[in-house]
Amino acid sequence: MTELPLLDDNDVSRVLCVVAHPDDMEYGASAAAAKWARQGKQVSYLLLTRGEAGIRGMHPDEVAPLRADEQREACSIVGVDDLEILDFPDGLVEANVELRHAIAKKIRQFRPDAVMVTTWRLETSWGLNHVDHRNVGVAAIDAIRDADNPWLFEDLAESGLPAWKANRLLVNGAEPNYAIELSAEDVDKGVRSLEAHKVYLEALPDHPVPREMVTMIASETGARAGVEYALPVQVIDM
Ligand SMILES: [Zn+2]
Repeated sequence: MTELPLLDDNDVSRVLCVVAHPDDMEYGASAAAAKWARQGKQVSYLLLTRGEAGIRGMHPDEVAPLRADEQREACSIVGVDDLEILDFPDGLVEANVELRHAIAKKIRQFRPDAVMVTTWRLETSWGLNHVDHRNVGVAAIDAIRDADNPWLFEDLAESGLPAWKANRLLVNGAEPNYAIELSAEDVDKGVRSLEAHKVYLEALPDHPVPREMVTMIASETGARAGVEYALPVQVIDM
């Protein structure tokens, strides 16, 4: 008996992935992005920060462009060519109206069916969650509603971005209620997309080996869903 149903994502054609930092998509989620790109779906990444405070021994001015380059490389490996990186302050992201406006703007521009985020919960399976992940997750939920409300952010409507409803929220790192089936090739691309964050990972000597970690997530979830590989995901109808 399988405990996790496979997500039927046939009716999804446009997925907007909203995360705080370069590398946040690369802990399994980018393998799903690779699958969707392979299937011809449109996938866009919106990063709210440049991750400039992420390398202890290196100045943020040096880190920001380096991590953007690593993220571009990660995106090219999984076949995502729509990457936007904003400059909210890494480590100090607040779930405020400015952040919601930025995310709602992207939703109205890209018009996704589904929005993918990382979990906003404080306690996760891997430990206590980072403040930027928490705040970006919460702001993304609010921004999905904001984007669909014609009376909010009227400046966006005035600039030609009318209300848009994204119907589904896909949450990474939360208690899953679905699994997204992945091919071995998708998983391999997911691994290589994490490996693309080379300098960042080199600065974290205790970081798990990307191939072992991503493959383990995909094969454990696959076993729960009755397939070889899958990504665990919480799906919430909006
Ligand atoms: Zn992060």
